[in-house]
Amino acid sequence: MLSNYLFRIVAFVFIPFLAEVIIRLWQNTLSFNFAAISFCVALINIIPFISFPKFKKFWTWFYFSLFYIPTLVEICHIFLFVGDIGILALKAVFETNISEAEEFIKSILNWKFCSFLFVVCSIFVSSLIWTLRSDSEKFKMKSWYKFLMILFVIGLVASCFVHDKYKPVAARIIKAFSYYLDEKDFIIECINSRKNFSYGNILDTLKTDERKTYVVVIGESANRNHLSLYGYKRNTTPLLNQIKNELIVFNNVVSAHCQTLEVLKESLTFGNFSNGDVISFFKAAGFKTFWISNQFNGGRWDNIIAIVGQSSDVSKFINQSDTQSTNGQCFDELLLEPFQNALNDSAPKKIIFVHLLGSHSIYKNRYPDNFEIFKDHSTKNLQIISEYDNSIAYTDWILFELIQKLRKQNVLSFLLYVSDHGEDVRDIPGCTFFHSPDVATPPMFEIPFIVWLSPKYLSLNSQFVKNWNVNKFYKTDKLIHSIIQLSRLKNDKLKEKESIFED
Ligand SMILES: [Zn+2]
Repeated sequence: MLSNYLFRIVAFVFIPFLAEVIIRLWQNTLSFNFAAISFCVALINIIPFISFPKFKKFWTWFYFSLFYIPTLVEICHIFLFVGDIGILALKAVFETNISEAEEFIKSILNWKFCSFLFVVCSIFVSSLIWTLRSDSEKFKMKSWYKFLMILFVIGLVASCFVHDKYKPVAARIIKAFSYYLDEKDFIIECINSRKNFSYGNILDTLKTDERKTYVVVIGESANRNHLSLYGYKRNTTPLLNQIKNELIVFNNVVSAHCQTLEVLKESLTFGNFSNGDVISFFKAAGFKTFWISNQFNGGRWDNIIAIVGQSSDVSKFINQSDTQSTNGQCFDELLLEPFQNALNDSAPKKIIFVHLLGSHSIYKNRYPDNFEIFKDHSTKNLQIISEYDNSIAYTDWILFELIQKLRKQNVLSFLLYVSDHGEDVRDIPGCTFFHSPDVATPPMFEIPFIVWLSPKYLSLNSQFVKNWNVNKFYKTDKLIHSIIQLSRLKNDKLKEKESIFED
């Protein structure tokens, strides 16, 4: 029969293992290999407890911090996103800011998750106390346990070499963290490497004295299936519908990823930073570059997009964290004034990037009260969908305003609107709201891609525009080639076949 001490130790060692198995069974993500290896790891961890009962307290705390806490984090992640923690989850944690984190926490705090967290924490903490109180004094170690000690060491070393999927959770999180640090080093290297970057000859094929103002609007979390311009049942884009005949609406465009950072570090560069990026390219082409953003900029080291944005001739980040906005709200209309200032700038060739906060959750914080157009709150789901649709309607107004302001300039210009990625607003039954690579669904990638052209642009490029195919399937990781081709520039870096405008 098991002694009191041994019984408690076995229970203590297997509780995090069982917790993870149960949640994986529930979410249907349990593999046999994972269960078998985790079981062995748990078994091996009994050895120090029975070999050195004197150090019970130390082992208990050691095991608690190394297995219980990471398991808690992991199973919460699985509970929320049906997927393991990886580098993307860590990046989202480390490259976010306080207000975004606050909003994220608010959006996951529902009774279901809170009760789950409460139950798991209670079990974990009771188990810790129960083990600390166990009676290890009378427990005698047998000599053959020493052999088991050797096994323990071999097991620990071996567990570092097994495939990531089967690694104990603590080892996996440590590994993902080291990837993350590597990537940060990579960013620093990129900043240094692009200082002396040269593109060679960049040819402007539009040989005219007309002033040029090109605008690229990067949206946020806009799922095209929620735009009436794309056939959505609710009239979420009444203003763009009004000028529909002036717009070229591409209807088969997807993002390559479903997180802002992952998308933009590809779409705004030639594959990666060391190959050059959109801002340095347009600077080299003689354009004055503007970056106007409503996305938080925590500093060049904190966020890879800031590297591109801040290197513009003029950069304006209006979202300065929650302290300067009210209630975590910083509406996109605050971009309109710096946009007008950029338009007023006297440079003959300009490209202006506008980075919206768009429909980033929490949706109801993305629009002012007068945009509360859809009010179906009959269920929680319908309420959130209504709030999301209101944020789309607000973006419709922002885009309309941007186009009107640009139109008034009466110069050679285009405005390209493309969302970074989409959003699943319960479009797929059972999917949580959001955009998460762990539960990737089509709506997280199906994005709007809309072009407005000024009459002067059209008259000079009628043949080029005539050949566009709005049904072309296109992935925005190659967006930079489309932007350059739309600007009618030529350079060795430009691969026309990677552009959406090349049929
Ligand atoms: Zn995004």
